Amino acid sequence: MRALTVAPGQRDSIRLEDRPEPVADADCALVEALALGICGTDREIIHGDYGWAPEGEDRLILGHESLGRVLQAPAGSNLKAGDLVVGIVRRPDPVPCSACAAGEWDMCRNGRYTERGIKQRDGYGAERWLIEPDFAIKIDPALGILGVLLEPTSVVAKAWDHIERIGARTRSWRADRVLITGAGPVGLLAAMISRQKGLETHVFDRSDGGPKPGLVADLGATWRGGDIAALKELDASVVVECTGADPVVMGAITSLGNDAIVCLAGVSSGGRKVGFDVGGFNRQAVLSNDVVFGTVNANRAHYEAAADALAKADRGWLSRLISRRVPLDLWRDAFNKHDDDVKVVIDFGKLTET
Ligand code: BGC
Repeated sequence: MRALTVAPGQRDSIRLEDRPEPVADADCALVEALALGICGTDREIIHGDYGWAPEGEDRLILGHESLGRVLQAPAGSNLKAGDLVVGIVRRPDPVPCSACAAGEWDMCRNGRYTERGIKQRDGYGAERWLIEPDFAIKIDPALGILGVLLEPTSVVAKAWDHIERIGARTRSWRADRVLITGAGPVGLLAAMISRQKGLETHVFDRSDGGPKPGLVADLGATWRGGDIAALKELDASVVVECTGADPVVMGAITSLGNDAIVCLAGVSSGGRKVGFDVGGFNRQAVLSNDVVFGTVNANRAHYEAAADALAKADRGWLSRLISRRVPLDLWRDAFNKHDDDVKVVIDFGKLTET
């Protein structure tokens, strides 16, 4: 079978190569790949800046945003042939730490977790892959290719779960006005959940034109451009930062109102230094009861919350998020950025719907 592999740490080592067929066993289901979503993490890995091969190997099968169809399932499991599934990305550390032992591998305490397609575990960028039934999420077949949005949705479902838990530190706090920074797939999905919660939602992005302003408007959210610092006047109670871009992160954490919660969900590359008024930030955070926290990954409960969010969402809107479907044969083009890209997906040619 064909698989997209990289040598982590080596720039532009990506290639499509033949790999042995995986074989189903008593513990794992065999799945045929339908689609694979591409995100910034994949680009970082291809660039040689992130990612780890499985122990004892030089190359890693790339891909963590999966969608597949079960071909063969272990007897007595909750899966059966024909089910549409998405694979969970992270696996608990082997110790396990207290978080992983509780099924909260997204909060792993010792960093020894593994991640499919990212950290020491082959990913889903292959024509067929194996999955442990406990790490597979069944998708409503009516979603079809839209199921490939489950993994990025799980990441924002976790962000919202933690925002609400932090908000519950006081009895009176309510999320009312929400600012999302970044109108990429993660920002748009965060805004979708915000709107599903009935919250006034503003989405800041530096792009103009293209499909993003329309996607924001069709959620019933407000598009915001210009200077991030000017958004202080919004007095948002929640900010979900999805760009990882230094000036936007800086704007998000330094222009807060009272009792605000800032959730940092975008990964920065690091290495660029900017002046920062530590005392001013501390004064603002203390005197305003502000919280700034980071979030990564998702556990099973978040994938399930994400599946509910996708089931409730407007299918037409979701399908506009998938702006390009690239056949596996033309895989290179999936990694080239095109104007107007939102979510690019590699299509394995096995889905019958259009
Ligand atoms: C993935 C997460 C993963 C993170 C860090 C993100 O792109 O969506 O599942 O934990 O990268 O590796």
